[in-house]
Amino acid sequence: MSFPPSGAPLLPSYLHVDGLGPWATYLQQVERVVPHLGHLARWSETLSRPKRALIVDVPIELDNGCVAHFEGYRVQHNLSRGPGKGGIRFHQDVTLSEVMALSGWMSIKNAAVNVPYGGAKGGVRVDPSTLSRGELERVTRRYTSEINLLIGPSKDIPAPDVNTNEQIMAWMMDTYSVNSGATATGVVTGKPIALGGSLGRREATGRGVFTVASEAMHELGLAVPGQRVAIQGLGNVGGVSARLFHDAGAKVVAVQDHCVSLYKGDGIDIPRLLEHVAEHGSAQGFADAEVIDAAQFWQADCEILIPAALEGQLNKDNARQIRAKIVIEGANGPTTPEADDILFDRNILVVPDVLANAGGVTVSYFEWVQDFSSFFWTEEEINHRLVKIMREAFHSIWQVAQEKSISLRTAAFVVGCSRILQARELRGLYP
Ligand code: NAD
Repeated sequence: MSFPPSGAPLLPSYLHVDGLGPWATYLQQVERVVPHLGHLARWSETLSRPKRALIVDVPIELDNGCVAHFEGYRVQHNLSRGPGKGGIRFHQDVTLSEVMALSGWMSIKNAAVNVPYGGAKGGVRVDPSTLSRGELERVTRRYTSEINLLIGPSKDIPAPDVNTNEQIMAWMMDTYSVNSGATATGVVTGKPIALGGSLGRREATGRGVFTVASEAMHELGLAVPGQRVAIQGLGNVGGVSARLFHDAGAKVVAVQDHCVSLYKGDGIDIPRLLEHVAEHGSAQGFADAEVIDAAQFWQADCEILIPAALEGQLNKDNARQIRAKIVIEGANGPTTPEADDILFDRNILVVPDVLANAGGVTVSYFEWVQDFSSFFWTEEEINHRLVKIMREAFHSIWQVAQEKSISLRTAAFVVGCSRILQARELRGLYP
């Protein structure tokens, strides 16, 4: 007897949304877009299934002689529009569900800003703060070697994400190059400049956040100088965003990182705070602001709120307390679907992750193009092109949202999913 007996296709386990963490959030977002896809809706299940998911064992010898095993993942969600592209996360809470969701958001993001990539993401379930530099290098190199069969300059190109940086990209590039017998700078982006990295890449995500925030404020009749901003996360995305808002005359009144929440009504001295974070690894101990509860951070009186840390931070409990007029999603997946509905009903504008934080992948694309052509651009040229792409993407998505009376998130998904599914349809099914 054939199974399933009815002849109906058997749904993979990850299509059931209950209890699946970030992947459930992603699936609900996809569900919302299907009614707006017209004839392309026929192909929409493509979006609810990752193309490939690889789970790898990453064993290393610790400095004390013991052997430790870590679990690693690389998921290629969709490759219809080009090679896979998406970062590598090192975090103790990384799960397959999380990496699948992040890979799906990469597909939508790359299509929403129209860079010629599919979506992918990777991660290792490890707390890197517990590792020595040598152990971190061994984890990175062994993980790279294990996912070697999926990655490559024209196949799938990783980049930094939470707790990974330029040095880790340098080790990944070296490991891949040694294994393949040729220096392949284009296998990762977010590399050091000396190894084919791009000027402006480190600041690109924050610069993109700042650019779309400025456009959104303009649409609401607000100007950046004097506005009050609250930022969760002071890493690559949150730290650069904080600096750009501060430099443009806004007041960053509240910040939160993994250790502490701080508030100062007339604006925190951001250059000094970032120096403190660089020295101590956290904002904890910064004297020139009041320490507040984590819950109070979400209630801060401000115009702009930027979650730039991890997923699921804005939920049905704190979404009702937010006082900001605009939420700019620096992080991937920071807002749960329930919180999204609450914010929509409260007329709080949410600029979604797939648009707001796309500056990083946009300059990663520039880096990859520069590596292929071995011709490097000036920082001015890079920032100019970045701002142009981000502004155009914002306005085309804004227009779809206005025309269809839908949220900016659903509009960004309409734009991104339509491009992916159009490519899917044109390529056709094999065999
Ligand atoms: P990062 O490692 O540089 O910084 C992470 C920040 O989040 C740190 O300040 C950390 O203290 C804070 N944080 C961690 N756990 C927290 C918690 N429980 N509560 C409050 N704060 C917490 O990471 P990043 O590169 O800035 O990435 C942040 C987010 O932006 C992630 O969702 C990532 O996927 C997304 N993102 C990053 C890039 C990029 O180019 N780096 C691009 C697009 C999206």
